Amino acid sequence: MTNMNTIQENRKRANDYVHEVYELVRKRNPDEKEFLQATREIFDSLRPVFAKHPEYIRNGILERITEPERIISFRVAWEDDKGKVHVNRGFRVQFNSDLGPYKGGIRFHPSVNSSIMKFLAFEQIFKNALTGQPIGAGKGGSDFDPKGKSEREIMRFTQSFMTELSKHIGPDIDVPAGDIGVGKREIGYMFGQYNRLKGGYEAGVFTGKDPNHGGSLGRKEATGYGTVYFVEEMLNEHNLSFKDSTVIVSGSGNVSTYAIEKAQQLGAKVVACSDSSGYIYDKNGIDLNTVKRLKEVEQKRIWEYTKEHPEAEYYDNCSDIWSIPCDIALPCATQNEIDEMAAHILIANGLKALGEGANMPCTIEAIDIFLENGVLFAPAKAANAGGVAVSAMEMSQNSMRLGWTSEEVDERLKTVMSNIYESCKSAAEQYGEPDNLVMGANIAGFLKVADAMVAHGIR
Ligand code: NAP
Repeated sequence: MTNMNTIQENRKRANDYVHEVYELVRKRNPDEKEFLQATREIFDSLRPVFAKHPEYIRNGILERITEPERIISFRVAWEDDKGKVHVNRGFRVQFNSDLGPYKGGIRFHPSVNSSIMKFLAFEQIFKNALTGQPIGAGKGGSDFDPKGKSEREIMRFTQSFMTELSKHIGPDIDVPAGDIGVGKREIGYMFGQYNRLKGGYEAGVFTGKDPNHGGSLGRKEATGYGTVYFVEEMLNEHNLSFKDSTVIVSGSGNVSTYAIEKAQQLGAKVVACSDSSGYIYDKNGIDLNTVKRLKEVEQKRIWEYTKEHPEAEYYDNCSDIWSIPCDIALPCATQNEIDEMAAHILIANGLKALGEGANMPCTIEAIDIFLENGVLFAPAKAANAGGVAVSAMEMSQNSMRLGWTSEEVDERLKTVMSNIYESCKSAAEQYGEPDNLVMGANIAGFLKVADAMVAHGIR
């Protein structure tokens, strides 16, 4: 009886604590809806952890882990090709350094604001911890829109951005990488400007560099491949696989392209992909070479696919992509692409599994619907951790001044994704919700950081 009472008291204390801290976070960040969404999703999973570990409450872990160590916000002035001056806003959120130097991508997109930067950096804390590598968490970016800009305009903007950012990063301090709107070209310009300002060559300050100039082989493919490796582990556990499955992948950028490639290699038929204007449906299966050329080389819109494949159809509403029947959905474009309505449609059409390649592509309501309906669900912070895992491998290769082959990197990536899957699964089982990988990922990632935060004292 006494034992029962203690368990109930611990549960109540944990619930009260989580509720109190969430209210604090909400009051402190009232307008940051993406950041609040990300914190709420984590908080919901962590209640049983605090019931079992009162020392985390005593150490104020939740209060501290939700407040970034530092947010840098700065002006980025640059001149366009006609001599007109433009001003954008740059950010770097250095969220948590208990496991290593801040690590996370840079996003250039007009929607970038403090809430989006903070949600991405917050997610990165748990994702980076799950990889098992010694990396802390950060994220950065600007509301600059690279679309329609000339090569020289992109160069001038990125150089101006880096002139300020260079004061705050370094191989042992903060190591950025790419994200939406930032690929190896932009990284090349930022890396060049950083070294120019520092008067040296610090290979380890950036990851996602061109493999010909200090980058790791396999980094470009890592997030998309890693997502598919993770989902394949989850499918295999339930006697399913990508082989002969019908798959939809949203987006047609870096993550989407390599998720499509690996899904196809594993025998899936990928019938649709998109960009922010619309989506294509090719019932014969997407021809990835055409997509790669259009998007990676020619920087064209996805509708142009239908010019070369007249049997394919184009629809100019990207969110309707989820109305196509499929076995497996891989949202790989952006946050909140799948809401309640899309979730219901996917389930009604027979969805078996979903893997989040993008960061937070499903709303909290959509995730609940998937879990309630028995859809196998691979959450972003676990499923898309392959990119940052190979970034950490790039840091190792830069430190050792040697390079691994694509095969070596791919083998290591597979091992990391398999380990992440196992730790999510075992945390979910241990905390009483086997198969709930959302909870498993949140708990497994949290425990690693929380223990380091306790060990490092209140700061
Ligand atoms: P990217 O190369 O810039 O590609 C983004 C793609 O999504 C583009 O095709 C873009 O189309 C499309 N898109 C944007 N908004 C859309 C919408 N509302 N509906 C449909 N398509 C839309 O970016 P990325 O690096 O692949 O990143 C994609 C996602 O993965 C992001 O959430 C990012 O944070 C996450 N992620 C990336 C990495 C990485 O290693 N790159 C690692 C972990 C997580 P347009 O061309 O029309 O803009």
